[in-house]
Amino acid sequence: MEALHTLSLHQALDLLEQGAISALELTQAHLERIAAVDGRIKAYLSVGAEQALTQARSADKERAQGRAGLLCGAPLGLKDLFCTTDLPTTCGSRMLEHFIAPYNATVVDKLRKAGAVILGKQAMDEFAMGSTSEHCAFQIPENPWKAGRICGGSSGGSAAAVAADECLAALGTDTGGSIRQPASLCGVVGLKPTYGRVSRYGAVAFASSLDQVGPITKNVADCAIMLEAIAGFDQFDATSVRKPVPRYRDVLGKDLKGMTVGVPKEYFDKGLDIEVEQAVHNAIAALENAGARTVEVSLPHTEYCVAVYYLIAPAEASSNLARFDGIRYGYSDKDAGDLLEQYFRTRAGGFGEEVKRRILIGTYALSAGYYDAYYKKASQVRTLIREDFTRVFSECDLIASPVCPGPAKKIGALHDDPLSMYLADILTISANLAGIPAMSVPCGFTGDGLPIGLHLQAAHFNEEALLQAGQALESQLGINSLKPVL
Ligand code: GLN
Repeated sequence: MEALHTLSLHQALDLLEQGAISALELTQAHLERIAAVDGRIKAYLSVGAEQALTQARSADKERAQGRAGLLCGAPLGLKDLFCTTDLPTTCGSRMLEHFIAPYNATVVDKLRKAGAVILGKQAMDEFAMGSTSEHCAFQIPENPWKAGRICGGSSGGSAAAVAADECLAALGTDTGGSIRQPASLCGVVGLKPTYGRVSRYGAVAFASSLDQVGPITKNVADCAIMLEAIAGFDQFDATSVRKPVPRYRDVLGKDLKGMTVGVPKEYFDKGLDIEVEQAVHNAIAALENAGARTVEVSLPHTEYCVAVYYLIAPAEASSNLARFDGIRYGYSDKDAGDLLEQYFRTRAGGFGEEVKRRILIGTYALSAGYYDAYYKKASQVRTLIREDFTRVFSECDLIASPVCPGPAKKIGALHDDPLSMYLADILTISANLAGIPAMSVPCGFTGDGLPIGLHLQAAHFNEEALLQAGQALESQLGINSLKPVL
């Protein structure tokens, strides 16, 4: 048998079901893999080896007793912003360096109830603000396909860990692209569900009207399994929707006859890397081969997306991050003379540069006198952006485009240039502004061997169309068995 860590989630679950492997062996193999390669990848901020082995033993027991859940015995990783009672939840920030949450995020409980084994917590941009994972206070994860390259962000550690076979799959969050963009740069699958599809309870908030939790996996079938495990209403998240969860696996293997794929002309604008453009056109042709019809569509408000997002997201972040004041939990500067000074010193010392920049922009956009000109105006334009999508989805099932304007950059290239980093989010943030589901699926490589992703977007709650087309693409292109050499 091939080394156990190279299995995909659905392959591993099949072998567990057949009794050909045990959860304990599988977990040990992943812990060994982490020990062997994480010095180079730097994906994990914490690894809970003992807990993972204990969870694996109980998974084996559950299966033997015929009580196996959907993910029974599958070793997974978590972006380090999901609250867990048995591992730290740092959010990649000094502010929460030693924080242990008093409760589990709903999605963590759901994974555990489905029998999953949690290997550890993965590196990310501080409080999920960034597109490179360089804004992590502790370490910078690297792209498994090429040393010295970013793995994207903010769920960079999770995408890198999946690509490097350091877990079978992972959970990330996506506020403006943080699942899809690192998935694309690391050559794995990443899906941002519809706003409201998955509970956000216990996922530390960045921008509450945009944040959504979703899977990062080695292939589309695995993505369907993970989504099925985490989706659904949660009484602890008022934005989660009471809507039955489909059996997402049922759409796999279907061709695309009768499906219409829209190709927005605004997404193939100047600034798009030529190799990315070619790979994406090639992928769109592959969707046609699988039976889909393609049409050119227009999303005329695309040019405002970056500006709208970079007002709304920082505004909401400035409000969400007001809670980190050093009083009840997290980093606290105790040398201060009085309470006010303690607030100032705690926030000055606990937050990194990018987080402070967002808090400043957001506070400004919300302040009296500027609220109407910035936050309110941005919210109005957001409605126009959403209406663009409603119109396009009245004539097509999917929208296809690149995920990122170019492949993974060198570490450091964007670090001192926040504006360029923000501009590179242009293709992913509109899905969050509109609340629609979107997915990145590997669709090729540059001449340098760096992965390229195809971006698929669908109407609200039509995750099934994404999975169906994503898997059709996978079988047309046949590139998803390729692995980075480590
Ligand atoms: N790159 C975007 C930002 O910096 C998106 C981050 C995210 O989705 N969490 O805000």
